[in-house]
Amino acid sequence: MNVVLGGGPAGRTAAVHLALNGEEVTLVEKGEIGGQCLHYGCMMVCALNEAARARTTARNLHDLGIFTSIPDIRFQSLLSRMKEVQQKIAGILDAETRGAGVSIIYGQEGRVENGTVIIGDEEVDADSIVIATGSRPTIPAVPGISSAGVHTPHTLSSMDDLPKNLVIIGGGIMAAEFAYIFQEFGADVHLVSRSGFLKNLDPNLAALARKELSGTRILEDTALKAIEGETRVEGVHLEGKEGNIDISCDTVLLAAGLTARSEMIAGVEKKQGGEILVDRRMRTSASGIYACGDVTGSPRLTPVARHEGFVAAENILGREREMDYSAIPQSMNLFHEYAFVEIDNPCAVSATVPGPAGPGTFWSVPSGRTGLARVSADPDTGTLCGIATAAPSGGIIAAYQAFLMRQGIGVTSFDDFIEVHPMADGIYPLMKYLSCKFRAGKFS
Ligand SMILES: Cc1cc2nc3c(=O)[nH]c(=O)nc-3n(C[C@H](O)[C@H](O)[C@H](O)COP(=O)(O)OP(=O)(O)OC[C@H]3O[C@@H](n4cnc5c(N)ncnc54)[C@H](O)[C@@H]3O)c2cc1C
Repeated sequence: MNVVLGGGPAGRTAAVHLALNGEEVTLVEKGEIGGQCLHYGCMMVCALNEAARARTTARNLHDLGIFTSIPDIRFQSLLSRMKEVQQKIAGILDAETRGAGVSIIYGQEGRVENGTVIIGDEEVDADSIVIATGSRPTIPAVPGISSAGVHTPHTLSSMDDLPKNLVIIGGGIMAAEFAYIFQEFGADVHLVSRSGFLKNLDPNLAALARKELSGTRILEDTALKAIEGETRVEGVHLEGKEGNIDISCDTVLLAAGLTARSEMIAGVEKKQGGEILVDRRMRTSASGIYACGDVTGSPRLTPVARHEGFVAAENILGREREMDYSAIPQSMNLFHEYAFVEIDNPCAVSATVPGPAGPGTFWSVPSGRTGLARVSADPDTGTLCGIATAAPSGGIIAAYQAFLMRQGIGVTSFDDFIEVHPMADGIYPLMKYLSCKFRAGKFS
């Protein structure tokens, strides 16, 4: 029998793949199936972002004199409807997992001690163990951090009201996504970034994101020092380049990264932050024990977690398969869907264009906010090295482009590409343009 700890994207993928290949599998999930992705992460952001985007669109059409009003958000209805949908999806995942032949134990905590798995109080004899216990939001150790009104993505759905004055701690994608949502919902938003805001993002995308977040005050190179307030949060005390800053607020949202959940795992090697050490076949330092997903500290993304779960299962099945972390596409959802994928190539040549008018961008033409597209390619071979886009459905574009990049496709392969029309994608015309330049020997 195989035991999988954790029913998030990594654990569920591993369990289902093992079961579909004829293995006996028990999946232990102490909370709800779907993990962080469904309940506190990707899907929650989708739910809130869809409402925010609808409001941005309505505001734009109102400003153009087309709509008569801008709808207000019923925040509590939004949260309760969101939970209903999450439960519906969890039901589908439960049925799909059981349908594959996996036994699920809910409400029990699994732990590992010296090569043995313990479910609740019972020691279980397992042929293999897959640790997929995920991650949790990182909580900074500052005074007042436990005050009422301080939230993480895991507690956001229990907010008692829409924040009026919100401070978001974090300077990455997660923080930017929440800033867009709450800015659009009408909150007064401050974003506090310990270093540069979106510093790892393509500079074109980061500049566009700052424009979209013009209603958010962004404080960079600034650290949270304390949360003020007697019974609940009343403000934050910050330390920045120019000294101390105090900001009044009714809510703080911690969106400054994730920490591996591995405290219940003993007898395998871990990194300093608790991430479980694995090789490319997802094997830990202990024989028969595998780990996958956020708990390993790999890029904390659902598709990576799922693929690691698949690779772990393949190796348990005796098929040698390794993780390949090159060309992993990523996205960030503000009004546009920002998406990018990059293969490191310092010689790459790039071209950038504004996004074309199409579904979802027509009424952005007057404000000039149709997004953008950027393609990079190797000047000697024409091979694709990267794309960045801000467009409706940018994530879908990036996922397929990443797949092509992994096959070593070059810009000239797009000479015969036939698009659909209308479409708000600026990537394919750039490919054709770069192909022309490449064939003409003017590619630098
Ligand atoms: C706000 C936010 C937004 C995000 N947005 C995106 C996005 O847009 N795109 C993207 O790709 N990724 C996103 N992520 C990251 C994504 O959610 C994670 O990478 C993904 O959920 C990792 O899957 P996992 O299976 O490794 O872990 P998790 O999803 O954390 O699942 C782990 C599961 O294990 C269970 N568990 C823990 N300990 C035990 C135990 N001892 N016994 C039994 N069960 C246990 C937990 O209850 C949980 O269900 C986001 C994350 C957050 C917080």
